[in-house]
Order: sequence, then structure tokens, then C-alpha cells
Amino acid sequence: MRSRQLAHPLRALLALMAAIAVAPAHAAWYERTEAIMGTRIYVEVWSEDAGKGNEAIDAVMSDMRRIDELMSHYKPESQLSRINQHANDEPVQVDKELFDLIKLSTYYSQITEGAFDITYASVGYMYDYPKHVHPTEAQIKSALPAVNWRNMLLDEAHHTVRFEHPGMRIDLGGIGKGYAVDRGIDILKARGIQHAVVTAGGDTRILGDHMGRPWLVAIRHPDDPTKVVTRIPLSDTAMSTSGDYERYFDEDGVRYHHIIDPHTGRSASKVRSATILAPTATQTDGLSKTAFVLGAQKALEIINRLPDVDAVFITPEGKIVYSNGLRPPSNRPGDEAGATAASPRG
Ligand code: ADP
Ligand code: MG
Repeated sequence: MRSRQLAHPLRALLALMAAIAVAPAHAAWYERTEAIMGTRIYVEVWSEDAGKGNEAIDAVMSDMRRIDELMSHYKPESQLSRINQHANDEPVQVDKELFDLIKLSTYYSQITEGAFDITYASVGYMYDYPKHVHPTEAQIKSALPAVNWRNMLLDEAHHTVRFEHPGMRIDLGGIGKGYAVDRGIDILKARGIQHAVVTAGGDTRILGDHMGRPWLVAIRHPDDPTKVVTRIPLSDTAMSTSGDYERYFDEDGVRYHHIIDPHTGRSASKVRSATILAPTATQTDGLSKTAFVLGAQKALEIINRLPDVDAVFITPEGKIVYSNGLRPPSNRPGDEAGATAASPRG
């Protein structure tokens, strides 16, 4: 009787210790989707517990909202809108963060021979895709001279932006999401997260891997969202895909879509889709418009010169074109065009 009385609490203690030993810390993937920056934001993290995982996701989402407040051209009170309202008359001072991203955008203008140009908005603002509105020939002709990134006067010392040509406007829609994705990854890393995915629209960055294996990221068929053209294994990499099927309308056999050729003021259609791979999403976003404007061959020359950058383009004829770093070994020698082409698989 006495021994039973002693044995009872001991058994309970042993059972408790065993339970603690086998109960896993609840390491799992935690994910969330929100609509911010006019697009779909997706964050997925691998975390030891639900509280930490969800707090990390909260922090990324609230930083996305902060960046949107700063840089949205839809919000009249954003600093970017203040530039558009006043920089034709006087230098406009902005936060260093916004100034630096505008400055960085001119680097992408330089290396893409002007294909990437945030002043495209001087004409671009006249397109409204959901409402099927596009500028007339005459409107394009009169607004086009305002499209030229070299006419932005950037004062590094005072963080001011001044437009040196009348009618100029800027829009960071072509680099802001990639930038926000990189800030999201920085926030997750600072919280000790080692495996994550952050996506904003067409811009994604992967931190670490997926249970010791790369993530398999799909590139969709330009005309059929249910068909995958190819899948690319990725870990610790960023990837942006731009497509003429994202924001568009068709009229009289012409596709009006949201990537604008700064030289013509019209939708740039030399490829149907462009995917860029590089270490950061700011890089991939800054480069994913190039092939639409310059064409696959010219864009490949640029991409192949950049270290750690690769590309997959789908041409208007439906060919898939890969940069040197992604080309299957058998196709490398003697391919004078510097590209490998294959028909898209359905
Ligand atoms: P997402 O918005 O899904 O990331 P993209 O990366 O393809 O899509 O960027 C398209 C956006 O880039 C357009 O909606 C517009 O805001 C902006 N843009 C369009 N043409 C240009 C251009 N020539 N240079 C810089 N930005 C551009
Ligand atoms: Mg993008």
C-alpha cells in the first residue's frame, strides 16, 4: 500500500517527463496571403512555434504597408505623389529610403539601355487597363518627350528630386515590389528565420530551402494559367516574372498591357514573358522588363554579362529562351545566338 502511494506520483512525473521529451516544438510552415500594394502578398516561414512564425509574418506585412504609404502613386499623400505633384516646379525632398530606390532605378536604366525607366509614367499614367483606356497617338506624341530618366535631377546631399522637363512623372511599380520583398526577407532574417518565401505580385525571394531540397517554382504558359511551361529549382534566390497577361486588355487585335516601351510610349511586346533569377528581388524586378523592350537576344547579352543573373524568356512565337547559366550542357557549344530555344511544354 505504502509503495503504491509512492509509486503513483513517481509514475506521473515520469509520464510528464516522457511527454515533454517527445512533444515536438511545433516547428512547421506558417503562411498568409494579403492584398497590399495593389497586389497579392504571400509570406511563408518555417518557425519553431506558431507565435513566432505569425509575428514574423505580421512584421513583413506591416513593412509592406509602410512601403506602400511611402511609394504608392495611387495615394495622393505619399512621398512619391508629392514628387509627381511638385518636382516639375522645385526640388522635392524625400526620405533617404525613397531617394535611394529612385537613384537605384537609374542604375537599371543605365544597364538596360533605357528599357527600364521609371519616367515611363509620364505616358504610362494615361493607360487604365481595367477600364480599357489607352492614350491616342496625339497624346503619346505630346507626352513622350517627358519620358527620360536622365531628366531627373537627383541631389544626393539633400535627397531631393527635381524634374528637368515639363510633364514628367515617375512610378516605382516596376521595382518597388522587388524592393519590398527584399526588405521582408531582411526582417525575417533579423528574427532568426532561416527558411521562408516572400512574394509580391510577380516578385519572389526564397530564403534557405524546403526541407533540405530546393523549391520548385513554376513559370506559367502566357495564354493558359493552368499550364506550366517549365519549373526551376530554387533556394536562396530571387525570381521575378513579368508577363503581358498580367494587366491588359485586347482591342482590334492589339494587346495593351502594363509594360511600356519608354521609346514609343506603347506596350512593349518583344517577349510574352520574362523570368529573371538573381540574388535579390530588387535586381530581378529591375531586370524583368528589359526583354519586353529590347527583345530576347539583346536582353540575353545584358543578362549574360551580369554575374549571378539568369533569365528565361518566352518569345511571341512561343519559344523558350534560356540565359547561359541555365542552358542544358548539350546545347552550349557552337550556339552562336547565345541562347537555347525549345517549344513550350503544355
Ligand atoms: P509586377 O507589378 O507584378 O511586379 P512587373 O514587375 O512586370 O509586374 O512590373 C510591371 C510594372 O512596371 C508596371 O505595372 C508599371 O508600374 C511598371 N513599368 C512599366 N513599364 C516600365 C518601364 N519601361 N520601366 C520601368 N517600370 C515600368
Ligand atoms: Mg515586379
